[in-house]
Amino acid sequence: MKSSMVVDSHYFEQQVLKSPEPVVVYFYSDDCLPCLTFDSIFEKVSAAKGSVRFIRIFRPHNRQLAEQYGVKSSPTLLFFNDGKEVCQRLTGYISYAEFREAVEKLGSRACPLAERSTIHCDVLIIGAGPAGLTAAIYAARSRLFTVVLDSGIPGGQVATTYQVANYPGTNGVIRGLDLVGNMNKQALDFGARIDDLQEIEEIRLEGFEKYVRTKENDYYAKAVIIATGSEPKKLPVEEEREFRGRGIHYCATCDGAFYQDSDLIVVGGGVSAFEEALFLTRYARKVTIVIRSDTAKAPKSSIEDAEKSSQIEIVYNTTVKKVLGENFVEGVVLENTKTGSTSEMKVDGVFVYIGSLPNTKLFSPWLQLSDYGYIVTDENMATNIPGVFAAGDVREKEVRQISTAVGDGTIAGVMVEKYINGLL
Ligand SMILES: Cc1cc2nc3c(=O)[nH]c(=O)nc-3n(C[C@H](O)[C@H](O)[C@H](O)COP(=O)(O)OP(=O)(O)OC[C@H]3O[C@@H](n4cnc5c(N)ncnc54)[C@H](O)[C@@H]3O)c2cc1C
Repeated sequence: MKSSMVVDSHYFEQQVLKSPEPVVVYFYSDDCLPCLTFDSIFEKVSAAKGSVRFIRIFRPHNRQLAEQYGVKSSPTLLFFNDGKEVCQRLTGYISYAEFREAVEKLGSRACPLAERSTIHCDVLIIGAGPAGLTAAIYAARSRLFTVVLDSGIPGGQVATTYQVANYPGTNGVIRGLDLVGNMNKQALDFGARIDDLQEIEEIRLEGFEKYVRTKENDYYAKAVIIATGSEPKKLPVEEEREFRGRGIHYCATCDGAFYQDSDLIVVGGGVSAFEEALFLTRYARKVTIVIRSDTAKAPKSSIEDAEKSSQIEIVYNTTVKKVLGENFVEGVVLENTKTGSTSEMKVDGVFVYIGSLPNTKLFSPWLQLSDYGYIVTDENMATNIPGVFAAGDVREKEVRQISTAVGDGTIAGVMVEKYINGLL
């Protein structure tokens, strides 16, 4: 017999928030491998006599509750004392020792309330890439109290780009990191606050006051600008997860230097694929660009530069079908898209540039999205919700570049002031 109790959202308040004892809440599901391992650990710890209540919540049947508490994966363990969440949450592969220690702390009430700050601001900008930082420059310069949140560190995709050749006014040889570093400094100098490494757990966009909850803070804002950009599409092979970071990479600037004198492939035929392939020739012995169709979408100048390089070979009508290796990538199976014939190629690494996906999952319950998941706005960057704007790559549009992200950020930064002053 189980010593824990299965509860659903109707009884959450009574069993968890109003419990006189501290409570461990275990969100689980039936399709989750780590849950299978953790189940017996949970039962073993909950069977030990103590002053802590143990509750299981089946996540697939209680999605709204899970979303309310920002629970995005199973297993997730939350700890409650006097109706408030305390201690560090645990997720993923949770060890017996780790869980036992957390329960001991909870039982002795040694777990402090997660210290939270409440921030009231005029404008909350989500995403500190070129679009978000530009919006921050304009909004802060209009003397609006402007806060920028980022789940990582400021810079966005540009921070992972070695060199930017096409951003106007920069003589064509500026490092991505420097370009976006200047934007960041400018936003700070005009008085914006930048909160990095903030994981958003809850968001409410409707109504006069917008609310965003992160692990650390509660933000209240009169208006929100969404500038969460996009992230690279993953290589569509079964082995992607296994080899990600062990030979499959999405950022040449970050990981290229590990491949001194190596043989690499770059997957993709757009401008990013060609520019990053050229960058990789600094380290690699040979770089093969693998393109699915019989033409490349990159500008002619980039293609010519690649063709001129003795270290680069371009292979058309080809896809990566399989990635081979023990612990690290050792080779790939390539497939000819015209004939279907396959061949093996020995490589040390695979760099992938096959497009991107918008970071809009958080906002999908609220905002109108295009068929491809981008946020639909009007020409003033306004979304379907008053006081919520979107700018940059996250927005439905034709051209996604730094200059267009900066243009969107400018418009959003100006329009948000008009909105707050009741002029929109
Ligand atoms: C390899 C590569 C090379 C490129 N080269 C060029 C080039 O040479 N020239 C050019 O003009 N363009 C180039 N681009 C495109 C350019 O980088 C993008 O168009 C531009 O960065 C878009 O800016 P953005 O601010 O809209 O989004 P992003 O740069 O994507 O920034 C979005 C920010 O939002 C944050 N974020 C995401 N989700 C959340 C969340 N839930 N909560 C909080 N924060 C979140 C991210 O951490 C990130 O910092 C390149 C892109 C890549 C990938």
